[in-house]
Amino acid sequence: MAEKEVRPRRLKTASDIAKFMADYYYELDEASKSGSRKIAWCTSVGPAEILRSMGFLTYFPETHSALIGTRKMAEDFIPSANAIGYSPDICSYLTSDIGAYLQGTTPLAKAFPGIERIPGADVLVYNTNQCRDVQDWFSWYSKRFGAPLLGVETHRNIEKVTPAHTSSIAAQLENMIEPLEKIAGRRFDIDELKNAVALSRQCSVLWEKCLATASAVPSPLTFFDATTLMGPAVVGRGLQPVLDLYGLLLEELNERIERGEGVTEGPERHRIYWEGMPVWGRLSMHSKLFGGLGAAVIASTYCSSWIFNALDPAAPFESMAKAYSELFIVRSEDYKEKYIREKLEFFKCDGIVYHDAKTCPNNSNCRYGMPQRLQSKTGIPALIINGDLNDMRLISDEQTKTNVEAFIEQLEEA
Ligand code: SF4
Repeated sequence: MAEKEVRPRRLKTASDIAKFMADYYYELDEASKSGSRKIAWCTSVGPAEILRSMGFLTYFPETHSALIGTRKMAEDFIPSANAIGYSPDICSYLTSDIGAYLQGTTPLAKAFPGIERIPGADVLVYNTNQCRDVQDWFSWYSKRFGAPLLGVETHRNIEKVTPAHTSSIAAQLENMIEPLEKIAGRRFDIDELKNAVALSRQCSVLWEKCLATASAVPSPLTFFDATTLMGPAVVGRGLQPVLDLYGLLLEELNERIERGEGVTEGPERHRIYWEGMPVWGRLSMHSKLFGGLGAAVIASTYCSSWIFNALDPAAPFESMAKAYSELFIVRSEDYKEKYIREKLEFFKCDGIVYHDAKTCPNNSNCRYGMPQRLQSKTGIPALIINGDLNDMRLISDEQTKTNVEAFIEQLEEA
C-alpha cells in the first residue's frame, strides 16, 4: 500500500506548552544549584498534590526518561545501568535514566542551554500504582543522594475500588506528612492541600476535555501530538498556569472542529486507538506512517492516564487515594477490557494498535488474550506492534511498516 507524504497541522498552543516545560526545568535547575527551594522527586502518578502543598518543587524523572527516548539516546545509556546489575529486560525508563546519570550526562543540556545536570532531590516519593520498577528506581537515587525515600504501596489488579482500598492508601498518604514536614522545614496546612487538589482536579477536567475533542470527525488531535501536549498535566498538575494553557488548547481544538479541520491536510479514512506506551524515539516516524496511509491515530489509554476524576478538595486524602487507585494500569483485566471497549466506541475507532513494549509489561495489554477477546466482541481489527518505549534496539522499523501497511489494507477492505 502506497504511503503518501502528508503535512501535519501544528497547534499554536504547542509552543506555549513547550515554553511551560522549559520554564519547569529551568526553575528546578535554579533551585537545585542555589538550594533556594526544596525539591521532591515524584513518580508520574504519585501524590504530587501533597508535595506542592508543602512548598516542594516537584521533579518527575519519567519525563526526563521520555526526553531521553525522544532524543534517541537511550541505547547509549542503558549499557551503563546493565553494567551495575539492572537487567536489559526491565523498564528502559529506569535503565536509560540511571545510565545517563552514571555517565554524567542528560538530554536536558541540549534541550535547555545552561542546564548541565538533572536536579538533586531532598526527598523521593513513589507510588507503586504503576509498577514496582519506580520503587527500585527511586531507591537507587535515594541512596545516591542520601535523601529519604517515601512510598505508597498500592493494591494491584483492582476490579472495583472499594472503601477498603481507599482507606488503606489514604492512611499511607497521611503517614507521609510528618516526615515531609521535617524535610520541608514547615508545617503542613490542610487548606493548602485542598487548594492543590482543587487545581489538580481542574487540570484533569480540562485535559480530559482536550482529549475528548478527538471524538470529532475529522479529529483535531492525534495521539502523537497528545504525548507531548500532556507534559503539563504530568509535571504541572496542582499549579494554576496549567489551567490557562489547557484552556487555550481546548479553545484551539474546538476551533479546528468548527472549521472541520483534521490533523493533516490528507483525508481521515481510518480512526485508530493506540493501546500501550508510545515508542518515544519513533513518534514522528509513526505519525507520518499512519497519516500517510490515511489513518489518524486519535486516542489512547496512555494519554488518559492523567485524568483523575475522583479528586475532591473536600476530602483531599481519601479522594487522592481513590483517584490514584482508579487508574487503568492498576485495574483488573475485565475492567481494562470494558474501558477499552468504551473508548473504541466513544472515539468511533475502526482499528486498534497494541504496542507490546518489551521492557514495560505494565503498559502492554496484549499478552493475555485481550486483542483476541476484544476483536471477537467488537469486530474491530487489531494489530500488535513489538517494540519498546525507549530502547530502539527492540523495534524493527521495516517490520512495523510492513505490518501497519497490511493492517490498513485490511481496514480498507472491511
Ligand atoms: S509503568 Fe512501565 S515505563 Fe512506567 S516506570 Fe513502570 S515499567 Fe517503566
